[in-house]
Order: sequence, then C-alpha cells, then structure tokens
Amino acid sequence: MRIENAECIQLTKGLIRFLQDSPTSFHAVANIAGILREAGFTELHEGEKWELKKNGSYFVTRNQSSILSFRIPAGTCGGYQIMASHSDSPSFKIKENPEMEAENHYVKLNVEKYGGMLCAPWFDRPLSIAGRLVVRTADGLQTKLVNVDRDLVMIPNLAIHMNRQVNDGYDYNAQSDMLPLYGGEAAAGTLMKTIAQSAGVAEEDILGHDLYLYNRMKGSVWGAGEEFFSCGRIDDLQCAFGSLEGFLAGGNAHSVSVHAVLDNEEVGSTTKQGAASTFLLDTLKRLNTALGRTEEQYLTALASSFMVSADNAHGVHPNYTDKADPTNRPYLNGGIVIKFNATQKYTTDAVSAAVFRSVCEKADVPVQTFTNRSDMAGGS
Ligand code: ZN
Repeated sequence: MRIENAECIQLTKGLIRFLQDSPTSFHAVANIAGILREAGFTELHEGEKWELKKNGSYFVTRNQSSILSFRIPAGTCGGYQIMASHSDSPSFKIKENPEMEAENHYVKLNVEKYGGMLCAPWFDRPLSIAGRLVVRTADGLQTKLVNVDRDLVMIPNLAIHMNRQVNDGYDYNAQSDMLPLYGGEAAAGTLMKTIAQSAGVAEEDILGHDLYLYNRMKGSVWGAGEEFFSCGRIDDLQCAFGSLEGFLAGGNAHSVSVHAVLDNEEVGSTTKQGAASTFLLDTLKRLNTALGRTEEQYLTALASSFMVSADNAHGVHPNYTDKADPTNRPYLNGGIVIKFNATQKYTTDAVSAAVFRSVCEKADVPVQTFTNRSDMAGGS
C-alpha cells in the first residue's frame, strides 16, 4: 500500500513531534508508554506477578529507558514476531560536579561523550539539558524525568583567526574542546538549582542524575518538493516510531507480536537494559509461563520466531558518492534498506532477507540493499 505525499508529510510531522518530545532515551520510553496506554495496553512490572490473557496487549519497561510491548493472539499462538530498535542516541553526558569556573568570568560544564558522534554539529548552536533524576521523598527514592526545555548552553567554536588550520581537519579533544558554556560568573553554583526547578524538586533532594545535552534545533521537512526531512536523534528513534506505528496498526492471529525499543546500543548494548541483557529473554519466558506453557513449548515457539533489527542505513552521499559500495547504493526515499555484512555485523542472511523481501512485496514497499565497501568498516 503506497501512501500519498500528503499522508507522508503528516506522518513525518508526527515523527518530528515524537523526536522533539524525546530528548533522551528516558523521554522516548515515557512517550512510547503513553502511546501504548492510549491504545489500551496494560503496563506490567518486572517486580510483580504477571497475569496475562489471550487477546491481551501489554508493555513492560526496564530502567525507564528500554520498553517491550506485546500482543497475545486470541487463538493458539506459534512464535514471536519481533521488531527491535534502540532508544538512545549519541550525546554528551553531564559529569558529577559539572561546574567549572573559567577565568573568573565564565562557568562551563564538565561533560563526557556518550556514543560515537560527529563533533562538529554540536558547536555554535543552542543546546539544553534533559534526563533523569533520582530524588529523596517521604516515600523513599523516586525517579523524575527532567527537561530544562530552553536554550541553556552552547559549545562555542574557536574563531578561524585563532585556528587557521581548522578547515584542514581537526582532532577535537573531548576534555578541552567540547565543554559547553553555561553562564557568566554569576551562574556559579546554579546549575543543579536550574535542573531542580525544571523538575519541580528541591535541589538538596537530588541524590543521583543521568543528564545529557541535546540539540535544540527543530526538525524540518525541506527540499524543492519537501522530499527530505532532518532532525536530531533519527538514529534510532525514527525506527522506534515507525515500527510502533506498524505494530499498532498491524495484527497477527497466530503469533505474539513484540515491539522492542532498547537502550545503550550506542555504547555496545551490554547494560542491564540493553539488547545483550536478559530483558527480552526474561519477558518472552514470563509470557510463556503466564500462558501456562511448558519449556518445550517455549523453545518450539522460539524456533518459529523472526526478529527484525531496525536501525538507520547510510544513503549515498551526493558529495561523497565513492564512499558507497559499487553495487549496493541506497538513495533517500528509495525504500527500506536491508543491510548485509559477510562477517555478520549485520545478521541478514539469505533466509532472513527473503522473508523480509516477501513481507515488503506483500505491502508494496520498495526495498534497497546496503553493504559497506569491502575496504571500509561500518557499524554493527
Ligand atoms: Zn543506530
């Protein structure tokens, strides 16, 4: 089913709203949970017993930054049909004791890299701070999401006059070049107050924080015929959003449909809530047990399951056309991309490619292919 251009622009605007409302993985997961609740899904908690019903729709989160949702069919259910993406994007994390005085005239912030990113786009533009706080309350420790949501800091470039070689290539030092300017001398000691105020809590009650910089630039639909769009965090919230739309619109009478959005892909996925954790495994096992099925039935279901790992692909760059593989050259708006890699950094093989192609064919969705040039390492 091809969608018309007007509908496409509407969908893209919905995506941009989601991206702008999701400055961190915590916000993305909260927003997805909100959409699922609205669609009638019931929230489960890992620390409680699960009572699941046939024909039921459920979701569960871990660390507030990964979320799994699933739909149980009314009849006999075979395998799990899983769509997975990641909730995190490269950024700069605010360190503990972040304020640094400079020259008695400035306050800058001590930050460190989260994930691998191009440094240049972070310079000379308004940035803000968002993330998660853990606060002391009368009922014990509680978490609270926070988004300062105003132009708050900036990482200023050094002028060309003082760095004549910068356009010949520059090796940015994360400890000295990338520290954002927060304020003048009067700003000393106010950062956590600002954060506390935005979260509606007392500064002294903040006992822990996971805070990140984010780009304040708005998402935009652009190009001669509005054929392109750009926004921060499309890697990978674009796939999280697109797969969620598909998950909510679709249905499967014979399998459990699973939508997964997992944190920490940008730093290797090995955290307790990452793709390499027990989160998905635990959830599928508990689902099996709650339906009164045996271990044998669980393994049988797994054997007839399929998972799509959805992330961004590199389109051919108009200024660097030689960076793309000679025969697998995806273009913007050319269709969904299947990524191949002989060393299995992308796990596609003939079987999974054929299954995916046949699904796309049924839906009349064009498919493109991507491999890295054989002399170039890619992502994973
Ligand atoms: Zn990604």
